[in-house]
Amino acid sequence: MNIIFGPVNSRRFGTSLGIDLSATHKQCNFDCLYCELAPAPTVTRQDHSLPVSQIMEALSTALKEHESIDVITLTANGEPTLYPYLDTLIDAIDAVKGTKQTLILTNSATLTDASIFQTLLKCDCVKLSLDALSSSVFEKIDRPHQSIDILHVKDAVIEFSHCYTGKLYIEILFVHTLNDTPEEIALLNETLLHVNCERIDIGTVDRPPAYPVSGISYQELHHIARQFDASLPIHIASRHHAQTCRSHYSSEEILNTLDKRPLTHDDVALLFDTASQERLQQLIQSRQITEITRAGLRFLVPSKNLGRKRQNILTKPK
Ligand code: SF4
Repeated sequence: MNIIFGPVNSRRFGTSLGIDLSATHKQCNFDCLYCELAPAPTVTRQDHSLPVSQIMEALSTALKEHESIDVITLTANGEPTLYPYLDTLIDAIDAVKGTKQTLILTNSATLTDASIFQTLLKCDCVKLSLDALSSSVFEKIDRPHQSIDILHVKDAVIEFSHCYTGKLYIEILFVHTLNDTPEEIALLNETLLHVNCERIDIGTVDRPPAYPVSGISYQELHHIARQFDASLPIHIASRHHAQTCRSHYSSEEILNTLDKRPLTHDDVALLFDTASQERLQQLIQSRQITEITRAGLRFLVPSKNLGRKRQNILTKPK
């Protein structure tokens, strides 16, 4: 049984050592269509959980071997917040982690439980998944346990984002013909305007899914990114379906595109033809475009926007 895995390198979080809080089998309150794990009935509590002492023993051994990691990631074959001793485990990790950060990856549903809400406040970084906000699409794509109401989850996510002092990331995974409609994107956009987070990663199905669903292209993700309010820190996290489809942009179009949606150099390499990339370099040299670091990634933005948009997000009414 492998409790600890990695280290794995991630551009977003650095070098990470993972802890699997459901190492024996899948235990999840969702049964997502796109899950990398085989389909399984949903549960709201684990029927088999490892003792904290066993996890800490495995972690201590791994930390001796991999001293220079940046992050300890709490995840699972399923939903890590279903682990019943999570609060005790996080305290135990905090006592030994030194300068390393703790990160938990959760599907957000258990944030409606006050004790789990409080436990997650202790993590240095939290990544919340939020795939859909209409009940019908949420139920189709995430196939949640019948006790879960997406409207309660939405309220808990907004509240958590305003109580939490660590780094909060939101992840949305788009599935072809399910949550990539203008109506669903509008609902996500409206809610995310009330969420205080470092970054919103949008991606698609990159690995073999549990059910026969398909992802969308990089260009479609880019189109979706532009449907969100320009003040939101959207980042296209998935390039698996990226195809070379480079277009011509005038200097004005480059400035307008970056005004609506900051892009990384990787995005630019996929979207801009050679002449447009040279034009972008000239705009950087003439300081009309600036690079900023947002949650560990470098984005290109029009210089005139610096300091303006982030403030907009934080002053939106709840
Ligand atoms: S929440 Fe994660 S582990 Fe659970 S079914 Fe969905 S993708 Fe799989």
